[in-house]
Amino acid sequence: MVLNRIDLRGSALTDGIDRDLLPRAELDVEAALERVRPICDDVRHRGTEALIEYAERFDGVRIEQVRVPREALRRALAELDPAVRAALEESVRRARIVHREQRRTDTTVQVVPGGTVTERWVPVERVGLYVPGGRAVYPSSVVMNVVPAQEAEVGSVAVASPPQRDPGNAWGAGLPHPTILAACELLGVDEVYAAGGAQAVAMFAYGTQECRPVQLVTGPGNVYVAAAKRLLKGRIGIDAEAGPTEIAVLADDTADPAHVAADLISQAEHDTLAASVLVTPSVELADAVDRELAVQVPATKHQQRITEALTGRQSGVVLVDGLDEGLTVVDAYAAEHLEIHTADASAVAARVRNAGAVFVGPWAPVSLGDYCAGSNHVLPTGGCACHSSGLSVQSFLRGIHVVDYTRDALAEVTHHVVTLAEAEDLPAHGAALKARFEWKVPDAT
Ligand code: NAD
Repeated sequence: MVLNRIDLRGSALTDGIDRDLLPRAELDVEAALERVRPICDDVRHRGTEALIEYAERFDGVRIEQVRVPREALRRALAELDPAVRAALEESVRRARIVHREQRRTDTTVQVVPGGTVTERWVPVERVGLYVPGGRAVYPSSVVMNVVPAQEAEVGSVAVASPPQRDPGNAWGAGLPHPTILAACELLGVDEVYAAGGAQAVAMFAYGTQECRPVQLVTGPGNVYVAAAKRLLKGRIGIDAEAGPTEIAVLADDTADPAHVAADLISQAEHDTLAASVLVTPSVELADAVDRELAVQVPATKHQQRITEALTGRQSGVVLVDGLDEGLTVVDAYAAEHLEIHTADASAVAARVRNAGAVFVGPWAPVSLGDYCAGSNHVLPTGGCACHSSGLSVQSFLRGIHVVDYTRDALAEVTHHVVTLAEAEDLPAHGAALKARFEWKVPDAT
């Protein structure tokens, strides 16, 4: 297999780079908006009845109820493969270690004597977490959404995931996948809905007969999930419109081509639209990675999907003059996942400005972060890592400024407030302060 090559050697990259020169997956969320708008309206007006009809149409399964019975959650955990249970428990344990430390404490700043501003961090009251379940099932995404919400002390957590037509057991048709139900039970989440795609996001936003509306929806999903989030943003908060997964690898000739190829393949496995990009100054490494891909890809379980992703225009090798230029490229690309396979990888990683998560050296592959590093795997895609962060405890908190001034502290600054209010032609703003010191309510008698 030969990856597409973009040769930027000899280009002056010091002043930055046109992002359009770089390979990138295209997700047409705008086109999907027109498709999801009537679905969301329908769920708004008909609630559960509409969800049941969409399950039949899109998920191919007739469901009796959307809310998953508690007994099904208990049963799924009881029947879970013990090795999978142990792995999920370890994933949860590590994620809790990291996310617990993210919780910000309230801070009070004395601006002037008698004048303080406190920033109070308050959890969102109720959240809806979307766990994809179309082509693959992601119990790991239950962990990555639920753990930060719980560590933020969100009061009410609901999960939605598409109902499965053929879940691989005798009792679970019409429910989300049993490993997703088991992960919810393991984490103590008992409000779970068999709903997928745009209709699940609409259920969370508008509420139905069974599901109270939420304030925030988080979690990855396909283009219909992203479009519904875009459509309903404002009514609900969202984390991000997660697009297809991306890996960029910045590597020099010290990298092991077998490791680099395996990691490019690992993310291509998600989706035919997934992007795998190698950025390197070493033509020898690029050639060796191509040779490795030719050996490794045919041995994969999802060979067709991986081949399509790796040969698509969103994937390829970017050749650069040196690591400085490589850093310019990876910063412009702002990958969801960035691996550094270079000499002194820690020093190179410290210079990265834009990435959802950075994986340093040969012993920190993205797959570790997908499941068990302790970090979160719900990360910004499509270049959004230059302005947004991955899911964290912070995603579930709101900062409230609490302003507390004494009479003297207000008196001291009143003339400045009045001046600025008048400069903005908003004199009533200044009058609100002056009234406290000069103006009295006229005597009615
Ligand atoms: P999904 O659950 O996101 O979508 C399935 C739902 O899509 C169905 O239930 C259905 O309601 C809806 N749908 C399907 N066809 C439709 C149509 N023609 N019109 C309207 N709605 C339709 O599952 P998926 O499709 O497997 O996608 C999951 C995505 O999430 C993948 O792109 C994967 O890469 C991504 N993902 C990302 C992360 C991350 O952390 N970034 C983690 C896991 C998965």
